[in-house]
Amino acid sequence: MTADAPAPHRATLRIVAALGGNALLRRGEALTAQAQQATIATAAGLLAELVAGGDRLVVTHGNGPQVGLLALQSAAGPAASVLPLDVLGAASEGWVGYALELGLRHALPAGAELVTILTQTVVGRDDPAFDAPVKPIGPVYASGAAHRLALARGWVVAPDGQGWRRVVASPKPLRIVEIATIERLAEAGVIVICAGGGGIPVIEAKDGVLEGIEAVIDKDAASALLAIALKADQLVMLTDVPGVYLDYGTDHQRLIRSASPDALKPHTSAFRAGSMGPKVAAACAFAEATGHVAAIGALADCAGLVAATSGTAIGIGLDLVFA
Ligand code: ADP
Ligand code: MG
Repeated sequence: MTADAPAPHRATLRIVAALGGNALLRRGEALTAQAQQATIATAAGLLAELVAGGDRLVVTHGNGPQVGLLALQSAAGPAASVLPLDVLGAASEGWVGYALELGLRHALPAGAELVTILTQTVVGRDDPAFDAPVKPIGPVYASGAAHRLALARGWVVAPDGQGWRRVVASPKPLRIVEIATIERLAEAGVIVICAGGGGIPVIEAKDGVLEGIEAVIDKDAASALLAIALKADQLVMLTDVPGVYLDYGTDHQRLIRSASPDALKPHTSAFRAGSMGPKVAAACAFAEATGHVAAIGALADCAGLVAATSGTAIGIGLDLVFA
C-alpha cells in the first residue's frame, strides 16, 4: 500500500487477479501493440480501483494470442533460428508485463510500486499432456489453411469456435520458482505482475537444474497454484462472461451465483475444456486448499466479484444458488 492511499474500509485482502485474454485484447480484434494497449487501459483502471480500496494485488494474465503471434513470427525466419515455446513464453511475459505496467502506472496514484516478475513454472517431464496437445494458441484459421500449416510446420491443429487453431501441450503446473520473491514483494505492498501465460514452462532435473520445455501452461491453473502458495484471501478470474453457467449457450442457461466445489463436480463436463473448465477447476482447487472463496466473472464487474455481489463465487460450504 502506498503512503497516500486512502484508509482501507475493511481488512486488507491479498487478491490474486487473473486477467483473461479479453482484458488484453478484445475477442476477434487483430493483435497489434496499439490495440492491446488500448484494451489494457480499461483493465488497468478497474484493477486500480481495487488497490485504492487498500487491497494487495498480484496480477496474472493469459498469453495465448501473444505467444501464438510470436511463434508465427519466429517460424517466418530462418529454420535454424526458430525459437522454442519456453523462450517465446518468456518474451510474451515481458511484452504483456510491460504493457500492463504502462497501463497500471497511468491508472494508479503516483508512487505506487509495481513490478513484473519473469516467472518460471515447474512442470513434470512425464506429464501426459505432452502426448495430447489441447491448448489453443495464435490466430484462428479456416480449416484448409490450418491443415496446410499443420503439415508445413509440424503443428497439431484443433477446432476452436468457428475455426481452427494450433494447439500445444499444456502440462500441469507444479511449482512457481520465484514464489518466495513474489510473496516478499506482495507483502511489502508492491503490485506484482507474474505467472504471465502460466509462467515459462521448465522441468527440473534430479540435481535441481532447470531447463525450458516446449509447452504453454494454463494461466488459470498457474494462478490457483500461485494463490494457494501466497495464501491469498481471494482468487478472482476476470473473463468476458458474467460468470459460470449451467447449460451454457442454450436458451435455458443459468448463471451460478455461488456453489461449493462438491456441488460443481457432477457438472464438470458442462464447463468446456480450454475455457471455462480450467477456471472452475482452478477455483475449486483454491477453495479446497485455502478455505477461501474464488470468483469467476466479467472483468467489468471486477469490484463486484471481490465483494461477492456479482459473478460466480466458489467456496467450501456455499449453497448452490442461481441468479
Ligand atoms: P479467458 O481468456 O478469460 O481465459 P476463455 O475463452 O478461456 O477466456 O474462457 C471464457 C469463455 O468460456 C467464455 O467466453 C465462454 O464462451 C466459455 N464458456 C464455456 N463454457 C462455459 C460455461 N459453462 N459458462 C460460462 N462460459 C463458458
Ligand atoms: Mg482461458
